[in-house]
Amino acid sequence: MKTKTKAKPAKASLAHNPKNGYESITPADRKRSEEINRLYLDFLAKAKTEREAHDEGVTLLEAAGFTNLALNEAANIRLKPGDRVYRSCEGKTLMAVTIGKKPLADGMHIIGGHTDAPRIDIKQNPLYENSGLAMLDTHYYGGIKKYQWLTIPLALHGVFVKPDGRTIKVNIGENPADPVFCITDLLPHLAADQMRKSLADSIPGESLDVVVGSAPVAEKDRKEKHKYNVLKILHAGYGVDEQDFLSAELELVPAGPPREAGFDRSMILAYGQDDRVCSYVALKALIDMKAPPEYTSVVLLCDKEEIGSVGSTGMAANFFENTSAELLNLTAASYSELHLKRAMSNSWMLSADVNALFDPMHPGVSEKKNSAEMNHGVCVTKFTGSRGKSGSSDASAEFMAHIRRIFDRNGVLWQTGELGKVDQGGGGTIAHLMARYGMKVIDCGVGLLSMHAPMELAGKLDIYMSYKAYLAFLKDGRK
Ligand code: MN
Ligand code: MN
Repeated sequence: MKTKTKAKPAKASLAHNPKNGYESITPADRKRSEEINRLYLDFLAKAKTEREAHDEGVTLLEAAGFTNLALNEAANIRLKPGDRVYRSCEGKTLMAVTIGKKPLADGMHIIGGHTDAPRIDIKQNPLYENSGLAMLDTHYYGGIKKYQWLTIPLALHGVFVKPDGRTIKVNIGENPADPVFCITDLLPHLAADQMRKSLADSIPGESLDVVVGSAPVAEKDRKEKHKYNVLKILHAGYGVDEQDFLSAELELVPAGPPREAGFDRSMILAYGQDDRVCSYVALKALIDMKAPPEYTSVVLLCDKEEIGSVGSTGMAANFFENTSAELLNLTAASYSELHLKRAMSNSWMLSADVNALFDPMHPGVSEKKNSAEMNHGVCVTKFTGSRGKSGSSDASAEFMAHIRRIFDRNGVLWQTGELGKVDQGGGGTIAHLMARYGMKVIDCGVGLLSMHAPMELAGKLDIYMSYKAYLAFLKDGRK
């Protein structure tokens, strides 16, 4: 029997089977992916701390015509659609903005990443000597597996700030001609007791002190000659003395540049990809968006995510809200608290942080069909949290549907993934901090292997697809 009404043609398959993007990538996408990844490698090599990521971000933004919003604030210079500005928070957190055609109260499209990464900080009173070695006492930052940081070459990055306000930058260990530093470990021959301990207990935090010298100063009556030699070298190179450690922020990070990985060069192996990878491609997407967007576009590169987004430079502080108030003041006919609240609650946001990829060496911690795989595209995570979704910001099905529309319309290869099995552990990002304004937020970023290790592994196609996803999201007119 004939029917008069034709059913809508079905998709080739009703099933959902995500595939590796290298199977179907177009030559144009492959070329662009290599370009974006090359630029990402350049950025990563220069941005090994949150301060360096901030400074490199400002350099890239200014080269693309973004100006400091502080100038507009000081002289009450109005902003119009297409204007590009940035605002710094203490040289660590950075917000970059392209003004949209719609009023700010209609909402913004925000992408928020973070540029701090797990590392080993130097204590405020760190220098001592013991048994012929000069040492710096340390205090680790963020969630690390401590044993991974032993015996690898470490570089020292950061600042000394003098009471007169001068900032002295330190960067030792990245140039191949520089010395590096290291934390020692026991030889296996004498490690019988250590090896019987659990991974969590075998390396106490106080045993992560770093060796920084072994030559004593040649001064007959000098006490603590090894320590004094280090002080002399620091004074000669940086003009600092022992007290200056009190107003310093010095960070030990794995030394050396990021590298391509694999015979096929399809991956990046590098320190600090959580979350400089999402941060960089978000910034790049904003820079590459030439026409004024419908909704004001914002990229946030935040500090302190790895320790809970606390402090004046963390996402839990008011920097974003205050900056939005400044934007409203410079774009609207008159400033109104009500319009600020509307701008916040009408906003859409991608919480641009990394997720865990399925690791074939450790399959037991993941549930495979809800795990992301390398080079299957940018990973969207509806909710994070742990156990019964504790601490998660669960994006609505309605917002998830908008994300599907945006990505599918713009040729973005994407997948979904949860962070491990339900009871295995979990994690969270800055999503919940923004969701409290009533804005729509979803986690969306690059999947990693060996997250938080000194070297993290990411897929180039996932990096590129995050760039495409972020660009499509910023441009989207919600139609
Ligand atoms: Mn992260
Ligand atoms: Mn992290």
